[in-house]
Amino acid sequence: MNAALKGDWVSRSLDSVWHPCTQMQHHETMPLVALARGQGAWLFDHEGRRYLDAISSWWVNLFGHANPRINAALVDQLQRLEHAMLAGFTHEPVVQLSERLSALTGHALGHCFYASDGASAVEIALKMSFHAWRNGGRPGKQEFVCLQGSYHGETIGALGVTDVALFRDAYGPMLKTAHVVATPDARQAQPGESAADVAARAAASLETLLQQRGDSIAAVIVEPLVQCAAGMVMHDPAYLRAVRKLCDQYQVHLIADEIAVGCGRTGSFFACEQAGIWPDFLCLSKGISGGYLPLSLVMTTDEVYQAFYDRELARGFLHSHSYTGNPLACRAALATLQIFDEDDVLDANRERARQLSAGLAPLAAHPRVCHFRQQGMIWAFDARIDDPAQAASFARRMFAAGLDQEVLLRPIGRTVYLMPPYVLDDEEIGHLAQRTRAVFEQVVPH
Ligand SMILES: *Cc1c(COP(=O)(O)O)cnc(C)c1O
Repeated sequence: MNAALKGDWVSRSLDSVWHPCTQMQHHETMPLVALARGQGAWLFDHEGRRYLDAISSWWVNLFGHANPRINAALVDQLQRLEHAMLAGFTHEPVVQLSERLSALTGHALGHCFYASDGASAVEIALKMSFHAWRNGGRPGKQEFVCLQGSYHGETIGALGVTDVALFRDAYGPMLKTAHVVATPDARQAQPGESAADVAARAAASLETLLQQRGDSIAAVIVEPLVQCAAGMVMHDPAYLRAVRKLCDQYQVHLIADEIAVGCGRTGSFFACEQAGIWPDFLCLSKGISGGYLPLSLVMTTDEVYQAFYDRELARGFLHSHSYTGNPLACRAALATLQIFDEDDVLDANRERARQLSAGLAPLAAHPRVCHFRQQGMIWAFDARIDDPAQAASFARRMFAAGLDQEVLLRPIGRTVYLMPPYVLDDEEIGHLAQRTRAVFEQVVPH
């Protein structure tokens, strides 16, 4: 293909593709990159320039692009069964995946219900909770509780439990609003206070609400350990223990949205493990298919499952999506789980994390950086910028400067974060630390 035709992908895309989470007019000045291929932690454009995928392509890619083991599993599955409906039928990949995930929770959450996108998993968890109470003779439990800054997806139900003004304000009248309670954001610690103190305070505000309205509340939904879209807002695991206890006490379901934080991202396979709790519903998506195919699922308990198990059709959970339990997506997920086992990934990531944290130490100490934080394979810090106009354009300028320096960064507001795939070698870790710092110093001069 000649150079003119290659450059053409950008203009053709801008003419015909409506890109997600984008004010399209910004592309008058912001680069749109036409990708030709991916390999490991790198993305390559048509000019042969490369970008280290420091955010795992929106938090989905765990083991690099074009991973040979996941590719091989998919090629094998393609010869067998690409897709079939999951109502009335089943197949090996969906059975094996459900069994393996259930085993990872010690069978506390032994039933997996499938969908494609994260937001659909959230919708399913909300509907299941609501319907389980109704089937259990408590139809008054209809309300939901979410945290300040929570993000659970963009569909109407998920947006109803999302507290990000930019995403929800335009649709306010369409939404069933949820109760919003204090975030346990560890950055809110006052002098002398620990993250656990902030967690206790946030839990107390939840308790006040449950005391007043527990009989009307079906579920509390949380992103365990890290509220990612809020700007990698981290909290103490004590918060999750407190919420679990309150949910038991006031007979309210706990929904753990592990769509972003699951699959080893926070250091354990499930983030909830670090608090030693299990929720009533656990949502997974993003990394579960290795970043290959849309796959999401909700795991739940025997107790919830039994609330729907009946002769009567309408007491069942009649929700479905056309691609529920897609065999290719499940097979990609099985290959992903196999890599976790074969490569002892959680352990290897501890060493990667140690190295990258060391490489980022100069940034952590930078005078324009505050609240440097890390949890597992997530690093984040906030930029100190006084000028409001500079602050407003910060994320976009970081993105553009990052591309010039061969690193894909996409800050959230003033929060810069790294969420790399679990394949970085020593050299890539060095590159990532050094370039992130260089980009930051270019965009935020002393
Ligand atoms: C990304 C995300 C979702 C939504 O998933 P989609 O696949 O984008 O619909 C929900 N919850 C959390 C915590 C997420 O990070």
